[in-house]
Amino acid sequence: MRFPEYFQNPIKPVISFELFPPKTDVGMRTIRQRLLPNLAKYNPSYITVTYGAMGSTQNKTLEIASLVKREFKIESACHLTCVGSSRSDIDKTLSQIRNAGITNIVALRGDPPQGSDTFVPPKDGFAYANELVSHIRETEPKDAPFGLAVAGYPEKHIEASTLDFDIQNLKRKVDAGGDIIITQLFYDNKDYFNFVDKIQAAGIQAPVVAGLMPILSANQIQRITSMCGSAIPPDLEAKLKTAIDDDDKAMIIGIDQCIAQATELLQKGAPGIHFYVLNKHTHMAEIMSALPI
Ligand code: FAD
Repeated sequence: MRFPEYFQNPIKPVISFELFPPKTDVGMRTIRQRLLPNLAKYNPSYITVTYGAMGSTQNKTLEIASLVKREFKIESACHLTCVGSSRSDIDKTLSQIRNAGITNIVALRGDPPQGSDTFVPPKDGFAYANELVSHIRETEPKDAPFGLAVAGYPEKHIEASTLDFDIQNLKRKVDAGGDIIITQLFYDNKDYFNFVDKIQAAGIQAPVVAGLMPILSANQIQRITSMCGSAIPPDLEAKLKTAIDDDDKAMIIGIDQCIAQATELLQKGAPGIHFYVLNKHTHMAEIMSALPI
């Protein structure tokens, strides 16, 4: 199934998971033997697999997405970025994805290299995700289009001067052919609902899937949020301060917070939730069993 089909006349909210390709063979075995069998129990609509900035893990994106679809019979999606790729590199990757029977792509620009805050487009490549989306739509077979997801940022993308400017750019991606929007992680639902109101006012109709990252460690989440510009609300931050060196405690706080956040999102009409599961599953058992779905 392609992304947009999940959101046409849904009987229940669309729940999906995101994995990242591990660097080692042991990590790959863990995904196959432990992570996927456990995540499969929650019957996700689809599982997406991120695309590394450069190098060795890129092939693993397709390998894991294929494994998810072939062995676990769960729909999957490959993330694809513009980083380091010319048009012909992108075309090669697109045909590999298509030949593997994967019908969904999360189309992204990617981040500037570490230490730089400016994205320099590769030679004969793309400068922004909307260009990648247009290219995919222009080159794919018209009778078998990909389902395309694009990224949205409830608290604005870290490089954007304002949320309104970022939303204008989001509109370019949707107008170019993005079917659904998956958000960056956020911890305050007000940011999500404000974002949805604003993008609808800007004329964007695509479903906005809420991206949630359950907290597993106080230090890890401080690092991740400082990189992507998502805020941790003061009450959550105060709780996490009591668990700085205690990941078990941080995980309990994170599970409670995630259940409350997801429950409110679903009750107030979010069409789907995309969990950034960080290649772990034990916390997802509690979260999934508590959701009103
Ligand atoms: P764009 O939409 O191109 O936006 C980038 C910046 O440029 C924004 O500030 C935007 O406002 C501005 N902009 C956009 N278009 C224009 C334009 N035409 N003119 C002027 N300004 C413009 N990264 C990875 O490396 N691998 C992954 O697998 C991955 N998966 C992700 C999944 C999700 C759901 C999300 C939310 C992010 C993911 N990322 C991933 C991170 C993402 O690559 C970064 O956030 C990146 O910095 C921006 O990507 P984008 O596709 O949103 O870029």
